[in-house]
Amino acid sequence: MTLSTRRRVVILGATGSIGRQALEVVAAHPDRLEVVGLSAGSNVAALRDLAQTFPGAALAVADEAEASLLAAAVGRSVGHGLAGMVAVAGAPDVDVVLVGVSGALGLAPTLAAIRAGRKVAFANKETLVAAGDVVMGALARSPDAELWPVDSEHSALWQCLRGEPLEAVRKVVLTASGGALRDRPVDQLATATVDQVLAHPTWPAMGRKITVDSANLMNKALEVIEAQILFGLPVDRVEVRIHPQSAIHGLVEFRDGSVKAQVGPPDMRMPIQVALLHPDRPESPWPGGSWTSWEFRAVDPARYPALALGYEAGRAGRGLPAVLNAANEVAAARFLAGDIPFGAIVPMVRAVMARHQPCDLHTEDDVWALDRWARAETAAMTSAIR
Ligand code: NDP
Ligand code: MG
Repeated sequence: MTLSTRRRVVILGATGSIGRQALEVVAAHPDRLEVVGLSAGSNVAALRDLAQTFPGAALAVADEAEASLLAAAVGRSVGHGLAGMVAVAGAPDVDVVLVGVSGALGLAPTLAAIRAGRKVAFANKETLVAAGDVVMGALARSPDAELWPVDSEHSALWQCLRGEPLEAVRKVVLTASGGALRDRPVDQLATATVDQVLAHPTWPAMGRKITVDSANLMNKALEVIEAQILFGLPVDRVEVRIHPQSAIHGLVEFRDGSVKAQVGPPDMRMPIQVALLHPDRPESPWPGGSWTSWEFRAVDPARYPALALGYEAGRAGRGLPAVLNAANEVAAARFLAGDIPFGAIVPMVRAVMARHQPCDLHTEDDVWALDRWARAETAAMTSAIR
């Protein structure tokens, strides 16, 4: 199928790793895609350049004063804060909203896009982990809206599951590179430095937070829950394998024994293109996947204790995924700031999860109340460590 008109695309987090690669995808398909909205956090200089490239695009940045300065410089209004992103995400005359911000702050703009009936190209896994029921509830109430996965493993499963009944699925497999510390002795993991943690072996130039999450496999813990929510599969049917080459991104094993896998190079432009142009599949300018010299390893729980937390939270539900996510956002940030050792991240998340009283999250307010509690608990632990 071919798109009959150009799709009008909003890119939230346009200055980040996902956002910049999405802009490359748009540039590769000028006849199919058009940028109509952009948001950034603090990199206002980069957004200013983009505002010149896309003179009609609605704009938002994090800070109010920066928004005023940018508005004066580019001669049009610029929103700020969450409300600014929400306005860009929910604007009229938009077809697809790419949510490429990092962290659960993507919740409000995601809900705005869903409520406006948009197709949501979705990279922002933290939002789904924190607020899966809220997001899926909003989707169910907005018949035109759809969630199109961008995270490479979930894009892979989405592509493999197309046209297949869910009851025919025995299990799905998410692959993991193993992150920067894959080959470091287990007894030296706890003392890894920021530079060592950020040296990802296969996926280039990801944001810092997801690269930390990749080093302890918290990223995969989040992704197990992301798969549960996106595809309606219990976490016990979502398996994780270390696959150092990052060539296969996801597999689906059907109950008749047949297996479908999606293969590609470690290049996020591919899953971004799949989502932005879905269901169209035009030529792309970048090289495709090679399927030589693959390797799979079982996940060693001593090296990657974060993964079990994802399963625990996914099984328990009732707010525990949101607690895992909030605690991890704080702990990863504190590690990046040099306040705690790498080895403290997972024990801190586990300790905050242990204090959680199960509850149901029906509204955004419910999510944020629990999120605030988990952040405060984690921050208090950080102070104790320091
Ligand atoms: P980056 O850190 O590179 O980018 C984050 C983006 O969010 C930036 O544009 C940043 O703006 C913006 N942002 C940060 N804080 C705020 C704020 N307070 N208000 C508004 N905007 C803000 O992250 P990634 O691109 O790596 O990741 C984005 C999401 O995609 C994450 O959820 C991640 O898990 C997911 N993902 C990423 C992959 C990757 O390869 N990078 C792969 C799969 C999933 P600024 O830079 O201007 O401050
Ligand atoms: Mg992924």
